[in-house]
Amino acid sequence: MRVNWSGNVQFSAADLVVPSSVEELQQVVTGSARVRALGTAHSFSTVADTTGTLISTSGLKPPIEVLPDERVAVVPAGATYAEVATALHREGWALHNLGSLPHISVGGACSTGTHGSGNRLGNLSTAVVGVELVRADGRLVRSTVDDPDFSGMVLALGCLGVVTRLWLRIEPAFDVRQQVFTDVSRDLVVERVQEIFESAYSVSIFSSFTDPQLMESIWFKARTDGPERAGPESVLGTEPADQPQHPIRGQDTAAATEQGGVPGAWHERLPHFRMGFTPSVGHELQSEFLMPRAVAGEVIEALHGLGPDLSGALQVFEMRTIAGDDLWLSPSRGRDSVAAHFTWRPEWEIVRPALERVESVLAPFDPRPHWGKVFLDRSLQEMDSLYPELPRFRELRDAMDPDRRFGNSFVEDLIG
Ligand SMILES: Cc1cc2nc3c(=O)[nH]c(=O)nc-3n(C[C@H](O)[C@H](O)[C@H](O)COP(=O)(O)OP(=O)(O)OC[C@H]3O[C@@H](n4cnc5c(N)ncnc54)[C@H](O)[C@@H]3O)c2cc1C
Repeated sequence: MRVNWSGNVQFSAADLVVPSSVEELQQVVTGSARVRALGTAHSFSTVADTTGTLISTSGLKPPIEVLPDERVAVVPAGATYAEVATALHREGWALHNLGSLPHISVGGACSTGTHGSGNRLGNLSTAVVGVELVRADGRLVRSTVDDPDFSGMVLALGCLGVVTRLWLRIEPAFDVRQQVFTDVSRDLVVERVQEIFESAYSVSIFSSFTDPQLMESIWFKARTDGPERAGPESVLGTEPADQPQHPIRGQDTAAATEQGGVPGAWHERLPHFRMGFTPSVGHELQSEFLMPRAVAGEVIEALHGLGPDLSGALQVFEMRTIAGDDLWLSPSRGRDSVAAHFTWRPEWEIVRPALERVESVLAPFDPRPHWGKVFLDRSLQEMDSLYPELPRFRELRDAMDPDRRFGNSFVEDLIG
C-alpha cells in the first residue's frame, strides 16, 4: 500500500512507475487508461490519487540549466526545491520565494499553488514562464507565457499531463536575515497586522490560540539589499528572541532555519524548515484557506474566538500573505491574499469538527482552500463562484485530455 508523506492518503493506484526517459514516460501515459503524476507526495488531499498508474518523474532529471541572458532556469519537474535552489545559488542565482519546506518537488508544488509568504511575492507557480509536458495522447508539448491558455497550464492539479520540465524566472542571489519575535499581544497584531506584513520581505504569524491575549511568534525574513522599511522592532515595540525558535513550540529548533538576524543565503532563510530534517511536526494533517488580504485582522479575531473549540485538534496556526496573480486555478487569483493555515493533529475524528468550526467562521471571507490540504466538500456551484475561470479550464482540460486519462475523483468532484 502506497501512502502520502503524512500517511493520511492511501493511494488507490495499482502501480507506481518511475520512467527513466521521456520516451518511456510517453509509453506509460498512452498505455494506461488512468494515470497521474506524483511528486514527493506531500499533499494531504487526494489530489494526486489515481485508480490507474502513478508516475513519478523523479527518474527524469536532466541537469538544471541556467540561461543568464533570459534570467530563466530550466528545471526538471521531479527535482526538489532543495536541489534547484542549491544549483541556482552555486551559480549566483535565486528564486523569488520558497515554501516553508524545500523537500517538495517543483512539479508538484507548482501544480497546487504552493506558496511562501510576502506581500509582493506571488505563489511559486508565478515564477513559471514555460512548461513542457506529456499530454494524454503521448505528445511532448511546450507552452510559454505568450500562449493564450498559459494561465491554465501550470497550476493545473496534474489534469493536463505529466510535466517534465519547467522554465522558472530567476534573479541574482540575495541574502536574508531572519528574526523571530515571541509572545506578541494579540490586540496589537490585530490592530497593526497590515503594517506587520509590510515590514519585511516575508512575514509569518504563528499561534496555537491557547492564550487569548498572545500570538506565539512572528517570523520576519528581510532581504539585506531590501528597501528601507519600518523594521519589526518599531512596529511591535519589542526585541526579537535571542534563542532559536521552532514554529511549533516544543519541537526541535535544530530543524528550523537560522534566525537571530544572521544574514545568510536566500534558500537557507526563506523556508522555515531545513532540508535534512523532518519539516513541521511529521505527524499531522494540514488545512489552509486563502482570503483577501484586507480581512487579515478580522480573521485573527474570529479564529481567536474559537480558541477552546480548536484545542485538542490544533498544533499550530500560521498566517501568511501572497500577492495576487492571474492563474486560473490559483487560490490567490485576482486578489492580494492572506492565508490562514492549520497544522492539525493526525486524527481526522477530532480534526473534522474543528475544521467545520473553522470553515464556518471563515465562510464570510470568501475562502479558497489550498488544493493540497484537507477541507470539507465543496459543490461544483461553490467552486464555480470561487474560480470564475473554471469553465475555461474545463475547456482546456477537455481539449487536452478528452478521455480524462488524468482524471481522478478529487478533480471530478471539484471541477466536474
Ligand atoms: C510539512 C509540509 C509543509 C508544507 N508547507 C507548505 C507551504 O509552506 N506552502 C504551501 O502552499 N504548501 C505547503 N505544503 C503543501 C505542499 O506544498 C503541496 O501539497 C505540494 O503540492 C506538494 O508537492 P509534491 O511534490 O509533494 O506534490 P504531490 O503531493 O506529489 O502532488 C500534488 C499534485 O501535483 C501533481 N503533480 C506532481 N508532479 C507533477 C508533474 N510532474 N506533472 C504534473 N502534475 C504533477 C500531482 O498529480 C498532484 O495533483 C506543505 C506540505 C507539507 C507536508
